[in-house]
Amino acid sequence: MTAQIDLFLCLKDNFGVLLHDAQSGATAAIDAPEAAPIEAALQETGWRLSDILVTHHHADHTQGIGELKQRHQCRVVAPRNEAKRIAHVDETVGEGDSVQVGGLEGRVIDTPGHTAGHISYFFPADKLAFVGDTLFSIGCGRVIEGNPEMMWNSLLKLRGLPDDTRFYCGHEYTQANIRFAETIEPNNKSLAARADEVAKLIAAHKFSIPATIGAEKAANPFLRADDAEMAKSLGLGGKPAWQVFAEIRERKNRF
Ligand SMILES: [Zn+2]
Repeated sequence: MTAQIDLFLCLKDNFGVLLHDAQSGATAAIDAPEAAPIEAALQETGWRLSDILVTHHHADHTQGIGELKQRHQCRVVAPRNEAKRIAHVDETVGEGDSVQVGGLEGRVIDTPGHTAGHISYFFPADKLAFVGDTLFSIGCGRVIEGNPEMMWNSLLKLRGLPDDTRFYCGHEYTQANIRFAETIEPNNKSLAARADEVAKLIAAHKFSIPATIGAEKAANPFLRADDAEMAKSLGLGGKPAWQVFAEIRERKNRF
């Protein structure tokens, strides 16, 4: 495996992620929530910032771009469908486009719903996915600009990635997500196991991610909206999966 990752916190609970190609020396920041912690991570690793890969336009994912670009002259890659709402963009991408970070090759997946133009990045050789605010561990982003059906279809695309894909999301929300998920599927053993694992990680001052797509499929209620038992338990037996998803999302909004 050639890709290296550095994971750290920005702002209150945003994840900062650096993706590094040791061979070429290229390094991408996934989003830029805050310049200072990203600078500190670059200092600590000795990596040189070559690219910023933006998932969506929200300020807590983009407000560090200007400062980082000025200092490092890095390339800024952003979602085509909302690039107008992001400053300092050099290149716009959408579904199926490839993105190089040195020798690492990523593929763009359109994952709208949280925002209308949200994208995710998948690096197949290293089985790494950067999913912004679409998928969280044991949760998913709020449906702000899209609709539930759109968001469900985006989650299905991410769920379809190889089971051993490690994904990095935009926020450390996992423990709060678990508390909610336990109200939806109190008897889910995979969820109970994940709850134990995360409690230990957080107690040891470690992060709850990356998680794998395979483990997430078994424990994250938002990826399980097409499970017949789940639909029945929510009083939605026989309804389309996106409606079950919408109900779970609605309950989370009120939780
Ligand atoms: Zn967001």
